[in-house]
Amino acid sequence: MPEKNRVRFAPSPTGLLHVGNARTALYNWLFARHTEGDFLLRIEDTDLDRSEARHETQLIADLEWLGLSWDEGPGVEGPHAPYRQSERLGIYREHTDRLLAEGKAYRCFCTAEELETERQRAAAEHRPQVYSGRCRAVSATDSAARAASGEPFAVRLRIPDHPLRFHDIVRGEVEFPNETVSDPILVRSSGVPVYNYVVTVDDALMEISHVIRGDDHISNTPKQVAVYEAFGWPVPQFAHLSTILGSDRERLSKRHGATSIASFRDMGILPEALVNYLALLGWGAEDGRSETFTLDELTKVFKIERVTASPAIFDFDKLHWLNRH
Ligand code: GLU
Repeated sequence: MPEKNRVRFAPSPTGLLHVGNARTALYNWLFARHTEGDFLLRIEDTDLDRSEARHETQLIADLEWLGLSWDEGPGVEGPHAPYRQSERLGIYREHTDRLLAEGKAYRCFCTAEELETERQRAAAEHRPQVYSGRCRAVSATDSAARAASGEPFAVRLRIPDHPLRFHDIVRGEVEFPNETVSDPILVRSSGVPVYNYVVTVDDALMEISHVIRGDDHISNTPKQVAVYEAFGWPVPQFAHLSTILGSDRERLSKRHGATSIASFRDMGILPEALVNYLALLGWGAEDGRSETFTLDELTKVFKIERVTASPAIFDFDKLHWLNRH
């Protein structure tokens, strides 16, 4: 692990930046700045059907408006270009070849119908592991010959025989029994590598020490831990941030009104007020102070250990109040 803390914000450019992701970006940024670490921006655009350049442009404009600058990128388009996964496909391919050669991953030739049968069987047997791992049994020679003959295949990781564990700063030690996790697909039969795989390769190669993201990713984390283990890479620390709810205690969504950063800006909310508001959405200062922090003041006092595990409630009135003060 590097001596410095290294974190990243890794949005998918599939829409506008909303409250939840903006808070994730802010907490990563504050953690990096507070500990004099590095903050990276990585655009997760492997889903070519849903990713759009205009969303990336807007995302970057929103982060700049909030005052969240990043430290590093591939440097091809100057210091301010972020990493983009679509520019790293060769790296993922090399890593897949390595896992296959070492027998840590295997080709899965199951057709859609066969996978459906697997799903039905798992449901009938009340088995959480949806895929039985049946293609593990294909010999290495057969597997290579079938691939060479053009038979389509996905690449799956062999989930190890022990529980998958990680340390979460917000939740403590988290453990998933291995029999609850199916051998995950790393690369689809279309050749497109999946999120759980590329995120891990990138986090490891970029020497990310702390992965701070929304708790909707908790069930992905054991699969990512298995990828770290397969490569023999150290597992970073995690901080899964609690869900943000609307005033009716339902998950914050479009139903609750405008929640994109762009819409707040159009409403006349100042970036300082929004940053202040987002910081307090699931975090509190040690001295209990609860309002009107500047970004500089937040940087001084932000401790990731003070992020709360209970859901945060989004309150428009408080945001408007902060905007007036
Ligand atoms: N692209 C993922 C998302 O936007 C990143 C999640 C992560 O930080 O690992 O949800």
